[in-house]
Amino acid sequence: MTVDTRIFTADHNGESIRIPVAEIRGQRDGPVLSIIAGIHGAEYCGIEAAIRLSRELDSDRLSGLVRIVPIANIPGFLGRCEVQCPVDGQNLNRLFPGSTEKQYTDHLAHCLYEHFVRNADCVLNIHGGDIFEELVPYTGIGRTTDEDLDERCRSLGRAYGLPFLVETDALPGAVAGGTSLNQAAQADGIVSILAESGGRGLVEEEFVQTHVRGMRNTLKWLEMLEGELELPNEVRETNTEFWRISKEGVCYPEKSIGDQVSEGERIGVVTDWFGKTLETLTAPRDAWIIAVVITPAAREDAIVYQVAY
Ligand SMILES: [Zn+2]
Repeated sequence: MTVDTRIFTADHNGESIRIPVAEIRGQRDGPVLSIIAGIHGAEYCGIEAAIRLSRELDSDRLSGLVRIVPIANIPGFLGRCEVQCPVDGQNLNRLFPGSTEKQYTDHLAHCLYEHFVRNADCVLNIHGGDIFEELVPYTGIGRTTDEDLDERCRSLGRAYGLPFLVETDALPGAVAGGTSLNQAAQADGIVSILAESGGRGLVEEEFVQTHVRGMRNTLKWLEMLEGELELPNEVRETNTEFWRISKEGVCYPEKSIGDQVSEGERIGVVTDWFGKTLETLTAPRDAWIIAVVITPAAREDAIVYQVAY
């Protein structure tokens, strides 16, 4: 068993960039798999699963090289930050493949991409539901113009083995401009998916195990480990979209993750600061609720649900 751990370092205008990485090299030749967790520093189930896997993989039974970055966004992790990297307030998962010429988080994206993504055959972008959300575990697949590559990504998404596999032209979460890790990797012909399990700022064993199982399934899918895939009874393959509120205020979602809703059904309200209803939310289409924003704070045009349909 040989796990090589180190901290990659770089400097951005006097501010240090640190990327922890664990490498496990198998006894036999095989693919290079990079597992990148903690791009959002408060998505703890993904982070914990990556740490666990790095400690349990046995190089004697492994083919190829597994490279694990358990916490890509150390400033976000230490700062308990939702979505952003606190050094400059940017969302790391919109800045790939990154740049040394812009701000801190662009430089961090560049280091991650050049050292741990570009030279891989397969990349997992591991998320855990942010502090403000609760979600059904799902994998996200981006559709590109390369159908063969997309089919490989879809196949890996099924193998990761979460209850929903959602496809978008831009990956889930790509609501503002920018390029996610997966989109950048797929543009370079690398098989890549996003996987979500966890949320609410908690480390919950069930959701940690869900990710560990998915990571092991990925190793089996790549034939880097022997063994059968562990899959759920059903994987729903769907499209996805985000539902938003229009008014600033206090938001009360009335549906939970896993609920099925019908077009026109009431799904929540937004009130003013005194509890007076400003907006009644209704479902724009039939769908499953796969993520709910559980904090009542609601800016104008904020997301309240992610759905699968
Ligand atoms: Zn995330």
